[in-house]
Amino acid sequence: MATNLPLTGTFNVTCEYKRKGNSWIAGWHTGIDLTGSDTIYATCDGTVTRIGLNDDSYGNFIVVKATNGKYHWFCHLSRIDVKENQTVNRLSKIGIMGNTGNTTGKHLHYEIRNESNKYADNINPAEYMGIPNKVGTYDSKNYQIGESTTTEGKLKTLKRNTNLREEPNTKSNATLYLENTTLYVLQKSVAVADGYTWDKVRIRVNGKEGYMINKNYK
Ligand SMILES: [Zn+2]
Repeated sequence: MATNLPLTGTFNVTCEYKRKGNSWIAGWHTGIDLTGSDTIYATCDGTVTRIGLNDDSYGNFIVVKATNGKYHWFCHLSRIDVKENQTVNRLSKIGIMGNTGNTTGKHLHYEIRNESNKYADNINPAEYMGIPNKVGTYDSKNYQIGESTTTEGKLKTLKRNTNLREEPNTKSNATLYLENTTLYVLQKSVAVADGYTWDKVRIRVNGKEGYMINKNYK
């Protein structure tokens, strides 16, 4: 399954979207900074509209125009593996993370601009990826795109690593999910077992349903 993430495996958010600061012309961070695996993937179906080389700010960068008209910017790359006008999708490897342009270390600056493609006219890339807009360590396997995502229930975030159980008890089969994974509470307090109250939940991005101890999310 695919994700809306530009990298795979364990990764870090090192600077969140909209952080305020004088180091940005807009006065805030227009993208999100990520570190992790070197290979960078396109995060959407679209077309490469621009390749930039040795830009003072963005270094080597790729711009992909998604089929919905938004522009995805992948910046500070050490290598670029696509050409202008090339069609890409979420499984396309487009380049290698690097340290080019105005950076203090190797990372990917990823931002999503609206249809204007103008600086500081952005959407929240964390929301697009389905991850928290918060400095931290995450794992791409928790942010797979499911085939269907109905949005009933209240959106919650795990406050610690927690098992999703097939039944509402601690002995049934479990899948571990990591802190900050988002989920919906479908039904509250469906059972009390093993000293815990259990809710029926659905993991947001893969649609998987099961039971969790209701103390484990925010
Ligand atoms: Zn950045």
